[in-house]
Amino acid sequence: MSSIQEQMRARARELLSKNEVQMVIGWEKGTFWYLSPPVFITDPEDCDRLVWDEFCTNNLAKYLLDYKHTEDKIALFVKGCDARGINRLLQDNQIQRERVYLLGINCPGIKDGRQAAALGEGRRAEVPLAEKCRYCTHPEPVIYDELLQDDGSAVVREGVPADGGRFAAVEKLEALTPDERYAFWTSQYDRCLRCYACRNVCPACNCRECIFDRSQSGWCGKQMSRSENQFFAITRALHVAGRCIECGECERVCPEGIPIMSLNKKIIKDLNELFGEYEAGLDLETRPPLGQYNLQDPDEFSK
Ligand code: SF4
Ligand code: SF4
Repeated sequence: MSSIQEQMRARARELLSKNEVQMVIGWEKGTFWYLSPPVFITDPEDCDRLVWDEFCTNNLAKYLLDYKHTEDKIALFVKGCDARGINRLLQDNQIQRERVYLLGINCPGIKDGRQAAALGEGRRAEVPLAEKCRYCTHPEPVIYDELLQDDGSAVVREGVPADGGRFAAVEKLEALTPDERYAFWTSQYDRCLRCYACRNVCPACNCRECIFDRSQSGWCGKQMSRSENQFFAITRALHVAGRCIECGECERVCPEGIPIMSLNKKIIKDLNELFGEYEAGLDLETRPPLGQYNLQDPDEFSK
């Protein structure tokens, strides 16, 4: 059986040559051995640039928004988290299903690029799994048009905690007093540069115009101050509440190493406790807990 990478290149070439799609989005080798950033291919001759290795970390779904207003049909490769990002965009009516062709890949877990850089290429085999992949609940794509075939051993993720420690970091924070929690989050978000990388990479952050780009709205200024940073953090966390697909991209790209996933997961945990278990982006039918209402709701708003 040919490798995933060979299949990727062959299918991309075929789809572009037959003009079944006008662009393929995948990953290519970057400047450094530990980087495999996104690549946007329109010429069948360029398909050998595609790679599949342990550093194909970027969630590709978000890039579809850049082509939202074109007529092109776009093929892209989807790991578990990319596929959930696609469902997120479809559910938000940001893309049309017929304009994307999804090539699924069972993900064995992606390695941590920052730790790879620190260890050096000679110790490539020792690079640990990325934090975002350690607690991944769906490494297999939940939506696709075709699934690239691996040798059957792909969905084996080394280093995945057996204890289901998805909320372990949240539980640690919950054990603190309110003052300690405030001190913790203040020390984290005081470092925030308001670069908005976390927002830009997020498939759940897909508003046409973001409130944080509208300084004249009066809601939030441009300056980096404690209150403005906290307003940004809380607004973004609540904006993705019930819609966050736990891809971990926001935390991965944060240049300040702010544990954004602990905030997201706290909200996910609370929503699960309040409204029942829910994981965003698994299908198109189930509405997010905060995206639906019921006239028989016993809470006050319906009275
Ligand atoms: S908030 Fe973070 S983890 Fe959630 S969907 Fe956005 S980028 Fe992914
Ligand atoms: S990526 Fe990090 S530093 Fe940049 S805006 Fe988000 S939280 Fe702040």
